[in-house]
Amino acid sequence: MQDTTELTPVLSPDAVLPPDAVRPPDADAIMDAALKEEGPPAIPGVREVSAAEIRFQRRAAVVFTVLPLAGVVTAMALLWGNGISRLDFGLFLGLYLFTGLGVTVGYHRLFTHRSFEVPAPIRGLLAIAGSMSLQKPVIDWVASHRRHHAYADEYGDPHSPHLVEEAGLRGVVRGMWHAHMGWLFRPDETVTSRWAPDLEGEPLIASISRLFPLWVAVSLLAPPLIAFALTSSLAAAATAFVWGSLVRIWLLHHVTWSINSICHFFGAQPFANRDESTNNWPLSLLSFGESWHNNHHAFPTSARHGLLRGQLDPSWRVIRTLEQLRLATKVRLPSPHSIEKVWAAGPKRLAR
Ligand SMILES: [Zn+2]
Ligand SMILES: [Zn+2]
Repeated sequence: MQDTTELTPVLSPDAVLPPDAVRPPDADAIMDAALKEEGPPAIPGVREVSAAEIRFQRRAAVVFTVLPLAGVVTAMALLWGNGISRLDFGLFLGLYLFTGLGVTVGYHRLFTHRSFEVPAPIRGLLAIAGSMSLQKPVIDWVASHRRHHAYADEYGDPHSPHLVEEAGLRGVVRGMWHAHMGWLFRPDETVTSRWAPDLEGEPLIASISRLFPLWVAVSLLAPPLIAFALTSSLAAAATAFVWGSLVRIWLLHHVTWSINSICHFFGAQPFANRDESTNNWPLSLLSFGESWHNNHHAFPTSARHGLLRGQLDPSWRVIRTLEQLRLATKVRLPSPHSIEKVWAAGPKRLAR
């Protein structure tokens, strides 16, 4: 058995001292006290929020996460007894596609990374579609996500799974929870004037961002209103609300958050990035190609994330179609030479 006597720290409270001696201060206690007094180091472009703001944001996060979950539980009960009507499935799928592409093509590739350009009406439509995902107003979402790229997996990243100090399985679970949705409950403020001044200066996008509560209402109420208009049945409106509003919002939330959690933890890393981003193929269809996240961190401004052969990227198909229709211009893609420079693993087969 290992002899542990030599490992006793000098400042251990268990050190043999007479009962009335003044104990030397514990090193951890000194560091804790310093941290409490000074707070964690400031992050450029991030503002500490007041206790009242934290309370408000936490309550909003609870409503936005628990309400859709209640819808999923109700939907499971409905499915067991009645299955799902064609109308409910159509509303669910149609709005999942509309709002999901609003996030991936709009919020992410167009507004955050400016990987292509479209005329103002399409910009507006994509910003509204993304807002209806009930994630964040477009300018706040863009600011958080640019901050994620700037600090990827380092201190300052709003949702890295790699910043908990705990080791082992407990550390993994805590890190994944934080990256997936825990970060929503520990708010700070990503200062939008620093991270998204381009969008703040664009009247159309600034007003769509300010009108976020309206898009939340439209997103929640459109399915039941459409169902009622088509069937004049309150029961049909109620099930449309469960499937077309709540379940659809819940699924897209968790798929989007999985990019932050799963795609910074599990999967392949063909590119040698300085962060821990991964490619995760099982999520590629539901996330419309966003789960080629290692590729994306290697080439953040690329309009195409599925850069290698066989990598399904529906968002890219949408952008490419817009380009073929001459509605998207200045579409940015990395050259084979720049891909070569950061390539890290195995034989390379680029997508055509
Ligand atoms: Zn990432
Ligand atoms: Zn990104």
